[in-house]
Amino acid sequence: MHPVRRILIVGGGTAGWLAACYLAKTLNSRAPGAIAISLVESSEIPGVGVGEGTFPSIRGTLSAIGIDEARFLRTCGATFKQGIRFVDWVRAPGGDGIDHYFHPFNTPSQRPGAPDPLPYWLLGDAGAGVPFAEAATMQKRVADAGRAPKRIGDPDYQGRMNYAYHFDAGRFAALLAEHGQSLGVQRTIATVVRAERDEAGDIVGVETREAGTLVADLYIDCTGFRAALIGEAMGEPLRSVRDTLFVDRALAMQVPDDRADAPLPAYTISTAHEAGWTWDIALQTRRGVGYVYSSRHSDDARAEAVLRRYIGPRADALTPRLLAFDAGWRPMQWKRNCVAIGLAAGFLEPLESTGIGLIEIATYLVAHLLPPDGDFARIAPRFNEAMNARYARIVDFLKLHYCLTRRTDSAFWRDNADPASIPASLRDLLALWRHRPPHRLDFVTDLEMFLPASWQFVLYGMEFATDPAALRPMHAQSARAREEFRMLRAVAARAVDDLPPHRALLDALCADP
Ligand code: FAD
Repeated sequence: MHPVRRILIVGGGTAGWLAACYLAKTLNSRAPGAIAISLVESSEIPGVGVGEGTFPSIRGTLSAIGIDEARFLRTCGATFKQGIRFVDWVRAPGGDGIDHYFHPFNTPSQRPGAPDPLPYWLLGDAGAGVPFAEAATMQKRVADAGRAPKRIGDPDYQGRMNYAYHFDAGRFAALLAEHGQSLGVQRTIATVVRAERDEAGDIVGVETREAGTLVADLYIDCTGFRAALIGEAMGEPLRSVRDTLFVDRALAMQVPDDRADAPLPAYTISTAHEAGWTWDIALQTRRGVGYVYSSRHSDDARAEAVLRRYIGPRADALTPRLLAFDAGWRPMQWKRNCVAIGLAAGFLEPLESTGIGLIEIATYLVAHLLPPDGDFARIAPRFNEAMNARYARIVDFLKLHYCLTRRTDSAFWRDNADPASIPASLRDLLALWRHRPPHRLDFVTDLEMFLPASWQFVLYGMEFATDPAALRPMHAQSARAREEFRMLRAVAARAVDDLPPHRALLDALCADP
C-alpha cells in the first residue's frame, strides 16, 4: 500500500474521458499536481459509438468539468431532451386511439400547502382521460408543443424545465478528449495487451503493444465490453439479469435529415415492437435510430426488417450496425487497485439512458472515496455496495416498463408479463401499489437513479390500477386539488407561449461565438 500519485485510465470512450475530465478537475482543485492522471486508448479497437440519450445529471457533470453549454451543444450536434415518449408499450398498435405516454424529467408540481396531486389524479379530479404527466407537470405540454426547456439568455445548464440532451456519441468523446488534455490528462495511443499482477493480486503495470509498460497506483478499466482489466486480468464475472431484462442485441442506424427544418422533438421516442423497442433520437442534422431486441425472440434478419419498416424509405441506402450485449453487471467493480467504470462494469440496456448516468455516479464515487494513502481495501466494499444497489434498483425500474404491458401479440411481451421474470422486490412494490400509490418512503432515494416521480409516471403511463376506494376517505381536498390542476394547466399554457421553439433555441445557442 502506498499513496496514490498516479491514476491510469485504460480506454478512451465516453467512460474513459468523462472519468478523466472529472477526476482531473476535482482532484487537482483539491491538491494541484498531487495526482497525475493519464489515459491510454487503442486506435485499433473502436468504442461502441452509441449512447446518444442522457439523464439530467449530465448537466451538473458538464458544468463541474468546465465545458460551457453552447460549446457542448455546437460540438456534439446536441439537442435538448425533456423526457421520453413511450409508444405502443401498453397495447399493440392497430387498436382504438393512439397508445403513448410521456415520462417527463420535471417532477409533479406541488405548491407549498397544496395537496399531493397523485391521489387526486387517481380519484379523477384532474378530469377524465388526462394522463398523469399532463395533469401534474407543465413539461408534457411544453414538449408536445415543440418548445425548448429554457429561454435564450438563461444561464448555462439551467432551464425553466428540467432537461438532459441527445448528442453524437463520437463527437462527445472527442470533445471530452480535447478538454481532458487541457485539464492536464496525459494521453497515450496504444493497445493494452496484458495486465501484470503481483502475488497479492494488485496490478503492477499494463503492457502495451506500442508504448511499453505503463505503471500507476490505481487503474481504471474503461475498456468497454472487453473489460480488459476487471474481467480479463482480475477475473471478476458479470452477473447476468437476462431472465428479467430480455433484450441483448441492437441494430443502429444514423439517418441524415433531408431538410434543414426537419422535426426536432425535444424528447426521445421509444416505440415498442414485437421483440423489443426502437429508440428514435433527433440530433441537429440527423436522427439516431436503433432497434433493441431479444435474440431469444427474434433473429437478426427479422429485427432488421422491423427497423427498416420503422424508419421507412430513408433506411434503404443505410446499413445497420449490430451490437450485442448481455444485460448485467459485475458485483465486484472495485477490486484491489482496479476499478471499472462504464460498460466494463456493466450494462443493462439502453432504455431510460442509464449507461452514462451510471458512469457519472461511479466517477463521483471514485473521486469522493479515493483514499490518499492507497488503502483501497477500506473503500472498495463501499463502492461496490453503492453500485450494486443502484444497478439492482435500475433493473426493477426498467422491468416496470415491460411487465405491466397488456400486449399479448408476441412471445416477447407475454414472457415479459410472466411473474417469474419479475424480481421479487418489484413484485412486492406492485402488490403494495395496488392499494395505495407509490410514496417516497417506498424508496431509499440516495440509492435510486430514478426519483419516485419517475416510477409514478411509468406506472400510471402503463395504466396500472391502484384501487381508489381506499384513497377517498383519506383525501378530502378534492376542491383544492381541482383548483391546483386548473392553475397548472394555465401556467403550462403560459410556458408554451414563453418558451422558444426547440430549433430556434439551438440556432441561437449554436450560432458562431
Ligand atoms: P466504449 O465506448 O466501448 O469505449 C471503450 C474504449 O476502450 C475505446 O476507446 C477502446 O479503444 C478502448 N479499449 C478497449 N480495449 C482496449 C485495450 N486493450 N487497450 C486500449 N484501449 C482499449 N448510454 C446512455 O447513457 N444512453 C443511451 O442512449 C445509450 N444507448 C446505448 C445503446 C446501445 C445499443 C448500447 C450497447 C449502449 C448504450 N448506452 C447508452 C451505453 C453507452 O453507450 C456507454 O455507457 C458509453 O458509451 C460508455 O462506453 P464505454 O466508454 O464504457 O465503452
